Amino acid sequence: MKRDLILFGPPGAGKGTQGVLLADRLTLLRLSTGDVLRAAVRRGTPMGIEARRYMDAGELVPDDVILGIVRDYLAGEAAETGVVFDGFPRTLPQAERLDALLGELDRPVRAVLVLEVDDDTLIKRLSGRRTCGSCGALYNVFFEPPREADRCDACGSALTQRADDEPETVRRRLEVYNEQTAPLIDYYERSSTPLHHVDGDRPVDAVQRDLLALLGS
Ligand code: AMP
Repeated sequence: MKRDLILFGPPGAGKGTQGVLLADRLTLLRLSTGDVLRAAVRRGTPMGIEARRYMDAGELVPDDVILGIVRDYLAGEAAETGVVFDGFPRTLPQAERLDALLGELDRPVRAVLVLEVDDDTLIKRLSGRRTCGSCGALYNVFFEPPREADRCDACGSALTQRADDEPETVRRRLEVYNEQTAPLIDYYERSSTPLHHVDGDRPVDAVQRDLLALLGS
């Protein structure tokens, strides 16, 4: 049976990038609670309207909203298939509830993978991030700048910045991570779930290789 993985780490550590690759390589599903919330915000659903004020401020969306997303997800295709959780759990109640939900499915979490990146790099990764509104290409004004400022190299459309990637919100997101999410490392260290730390400040493929090696894949 497929077993679930938790990709853990501060915002900007590369959980999304590594999560897509891991899910593909291990034929797991990937659940990014942030992606689900952003889709709800775009569609203007009641959940999206509620979530948006927290997200734009860099705060966590209330646990009951997040747990609703995860419960629905695990009741679908993911009931049979393992999942890479990206950006979940972020609080102690979320972690406890995930253990209970997976316990009901009789499949304890296979491993928690912690991506570590120092704060200065995280701030540049997040506040420098730009997306093409048209074709979705990603840039970073510090690390991978477009040839022309604020224009997509591929299609020439305007680049946009996520509201929560504004420098002030980025600082708040890091604070929230340190206050509310980082303590979960302790929770998993005291549990029987294997926990691995990986240096996330390296090229994508080097990080991915280490993650797969730790999983014995
Ligand atoms: P992310 O894309 O994972 O950085 O998530 C973007 C934003 O969505 C976060 O800053 C939170 O406001 C919200 N969010 C995503 N996942 C969670 C979660 N597990 N618990 C609470 N809020 C979340």
